[in-house]
Amino acid sequence: MNPRTAALGQELSKRPLLGDGATGTQLQAMGLAPGACGELWNTEHPDRVRRVNQLYLEAGSDLLTTNTFGGTSFVLESHGVAGRGRELNLAGARLAREIAGDRAWVLGDIGPFGGMLEPLGETPSEAVAAAFREQAEALIEGGADAILVETMSDPAEAALAVRAAKGAGAGLVLATYTFQKTAVGYRTMMGTNAGDAVAAVIAAGAEVVGANCGTELSLEDYERLTAELVAAAAGRPVIVQPNAGAPRLVEGRICYAESAGEFAAAAPRFLLAGARLVGGCCGSTPAHIAAMAAILKS
Ligand SMILES: [Zn+2]
Repeated sequence: MNPRTAALGQELSKRPLLGDGATGTQLQAMGLAPGACGELWNTEHPDRVRRVNQLYLEAGSDLLTTNTFGGTSFVLESHGVAGRGRELNLAGARLAREIAGDRAWVLGDIGPFGGMLEPLGETPSEAVAAAFREQAEALIEGGADAILVETMSDPAEAALAVRAAKGAGAGLVLATYTFQKTAVGYRTMMGTNAGDAVAAVIAAGAEVVGANCGTELSLEDYERLTAELVAAAAGRPVIVQPNAGAPRLVEGRICYAESAGEFAAAAPRFLLAGARLVGGCCGSTPAHIAAMAAILKS
């Protein structure tokens, strides 16, 4: 195992670790059009991607996430650049690795492939597994210390991504789902509860499990969800990365409700509920992460 990956595993058993915040909304603030392919910026505007990683490092993140959320060949195909998966993931990992140096770990980011697996959908598992494998290999080659499989709804897809990451040689895999609030509790969009969702990625080999994003979930919801995840994790570390409040459209711009202070104040409650890694998803900024760092390190 890469010595940095081994060190990350050891550090996790010693203290709570701080992730970073949103990448997409940061890039949009730098001019990326909503809906455009952010991964292309790993080669077209590496300075801006580096800047996002740098801002989170300075804010106190222990873990920097690569700008590769939509880096499967399936998502890239929807932007007309399916053949550039290896190049764009490799570049994204190298940018984060360059900024992280010895001060942070790099999480190679893998998001959903953007469709539905057979039999519910039309995409065969083998093709999706191959896309995840290509992405994970490039991320590890580019210097990712661990792979973060995130924003998953379908446990079968999440398990495919985790297995692909392990097969590509990842020494540590984190897997997180996005949950919604329903009349019967927290469920993924596919209707899976926290216990079943977590069990699927543990069976696939994930060392760290948890939740991220979730536009309907308040920070109080996340606190309750954390307890469910911890119960399901069977001793494995749990990571939670909520959105900075629910997104609202204000005068044509997407705004997030939670201030950095309110957001950060929830971090100790997540840790009390048993989380070992905390960070932010959509709408969270370096200011949100810096506020969390100040509370966690005080
Ligand atoms: Zn999000």
